[in-house]
Amino acid sequence: MRAMLLDAPRRALRLAELPAPLTGAGKLLIRVRACGVCRTDLHVVDGELAEAKLPIIPGHEIVGEVVERGAGADRFAIGERVGVPWLGYTCGACRYCKRGQENLCDSARFTGYHIDGGYAEYTVADQRYCFSIPPEYDDVAAAPLLCAGLIGYRSLVMAGDAQTLGIYGFGAAAHIVAQVARHQGRAVYAFTRPGDNNAQAFARELGAIWAGDSTAAPPEPLDAAIIFAPVGSLVVAALRATAKGGTVVCAGIHMSEIPAFPYDVLWGERVIRSVANLTRRDGEEFLALAPRVPVKTSVEALRLDRANEALARLREGRITGAVVLVL
Ligand SMILES: [Zn+2]
Ligand SMILES: [Zn+2]
Repeated sequence: MRAMLLDAPRRALRLAELPAPLTGAGKLLIRVRACGVCRTDLHVVDGELAEAKLPIIPGHEIVGEVVERGAGADRFAIGERVGVPWLGYTCGACRYCKRGQENLCDSARFTGYHIDGGYAEYTVADQRYCFSIPPEYDDVAAAPLLCAGLIGYRSLVMAGDAQTLGIYGFGAAAHIVAQVARHQGRAVYAFTRPGDNNAQAFARELGAIWAGDSTAAPPEPLDAAIIFAPVGSLVVAALRATAKGGTVVCAGIHMSEIPAFPYDVLWGERVIRSVANLTRRDGEEFLALAPRVPVKTSVEALRLDRANEALARLREGRITGAVVLVL
């Protein structure tokens, strides 16, 4: 099969011809039709997440078709369309797994990081972590739901019942979360890289009542803010924009260092928290909710062999919505 392979951090992916992977007990062999490109892939490629299996096939927003089933893998039929997310394995036995926080599992393994992912013609996934894809979405439109959507949704839940919601970094996750938040009757304030008029116009199209530079103060205090951009100084900016009792949710897996700030920025029972990974329950909830909103993903499709170009444009902030590799 053809695959885009990362041999070592900070190198370009290499188009490789590899043997198709073999299914094992409880696993599915999936012919990949589309795979979203997530910022986390960029953190893996750039070596900011240091535990990657190497070489690794990145990609954890996989939409594909079951072509072979290992022993006991009967959750999905041959030919059925499935989605494969970031969460690829949990132990089921650690303190986190036992209390419903499998996203924090001590032995968790992640797709496109510890397990070969979807930048390839075929992938193998543990059926327990796969999802059915809502029929309202075609393969390309569905792909960003599997991480940008799921993690975005978890971040939105962590923001509580905030009526005024700030979103810092208006990329793939934000463009989905903004639609859900608006559907829930919240007022969305979008913060982008300073001067990024395209992203600000895009945010307004999706229902943001205000869009501006990340350095600007919103016209009214925020009840909560979600930070998708991997920029530590935004934590301080978001705290300053947040009302007393407000929550700042850091939704990314990696962030540059957070600068020191005076205590009065946090005072007033403001909360900073991170969101890590996803649970299968997040996925089931979000994939049921998305077609009811309905969330419409704004997607640019590129062929698999253009993965390096997709990553470069993501790094430079030159993507509107999400980019998806197609096979
Ligand atoms: Zn566990
Ligand atoms: Zn992701």
